[in-house]
Amino acid sequence: MAGKKGFSPKAHSYYKIDGDKVTRLKKICARCGKGVYMSEHKDRRACGKCTDTEFIR
Ligand SMILES: [Zn+2]
Repeated sequence: MAGKKGFSPKAHSYYKIDGDKVTRLKKICARCGKGVYMSEHKDRRACGKCTDTEFIR
């Protein structure tokens, strides 16, 4: 898919572009703080650094 430069395919996994609105999809780990994201799973989020797991209803 040819597109505009500026967004790498990886960036799309972190941000959802909806028109001119950018929504952050990944949640930052509450323990590790800025720059450490929780990996999204079907029913939970898990931090790859401190292994903290948060369950989603
Ligand atoms: Zn963490």
